[in-house]
Amino acid sequence: MGKEYVRFRCHHCLHCCTKVVCLPTPADVIRIVQATGRDPLSFLEFVTSEGISSVDPNDPTWLDCGDERYLMALWRPDERCVFLDHENRRCGIYEDRPILCRLYPFKARFRRDGVFKGFGLHGDVECPRHQDGEVAVAPLYALLQEDEEHQCDYEDLVRVFNRKQYPGKRPEDFIGMFVERN
Ligand code: SF4
Ligand code: SF4
Repeated sequence: MGKEYVRFRCHHCLHCCTKVVCLPTPADVIRIVQATGRDPLSFLEFVTSEGISSVDPNDPTWLDCGDERYLMALWRPDERCVFLDHENRRCGIYEDRPILCRLYPFKARFRRDGVFKGFGLHGDVECPRHQDGEVAVAPLYALLQEDEEHQCDYEDLVRVFNRKQYPGKRPEDFIGMFVERN
C-alpha cells in the first residue's frame, strides 16, 4: 500500500468548508438525516454547471431534469457550508460529515495498471500544506473503499432517476428515492 503515513496537518484555515463545494452521496445524506433529524432540503442544494465548473460534464451523478442538469451538494449560504459552526469555526456534524470531507484534501494515487499507490494532496486545493503531522493511510484507504461502494449505489440511483422524464421534474425529487420526508 505504499507509505503508512501522509505528512500533513490541517490548520483549520477553513478553505475546505468555504471554498470547496461538497458533493455528498445519498449514503452521506441518510447518515446526516439520522444523526440530526433534519429535513434534507434544509441542508442540500442542487447546483448547475454554472455553480460548479470543476466537475466533469460526463460525471455519472449529474441529475437530468430535461432542460437542465444538476449535482446534489451541501448548501452553502454566504459561500460557507451550512454545517460550519461560525463561533468555533469547526464542523457542526464532524462525526457524521460526508466521506468526501473526511478524505479531503487527500487524493488517492494509482499506478497505470490501476493498483493503489498512496495518497497525496489534491493539486487544486489552496491548502497551506503544513507537513508537521502524520495522517495514517490505512483508515484513509478504508474510507476510499467505502466511498467507492457508495458511489456505485449513487450512480445506480441516478441512472434510474434520469430514465424517468415527466412534466415539472425537479432535482429535489431525487431525494425521495432514498430518504422518506415528513
Ligand atoms: S460538512 Fe463539515 S467538514 Fe464538510 S464542508 Fe461542511 S463544515 Fe466542512
Ligand atoms: S485547506 Fe488544508 S489547512 Fe485549510 S481546512 Fe483544508 S485541509 Fe485544513
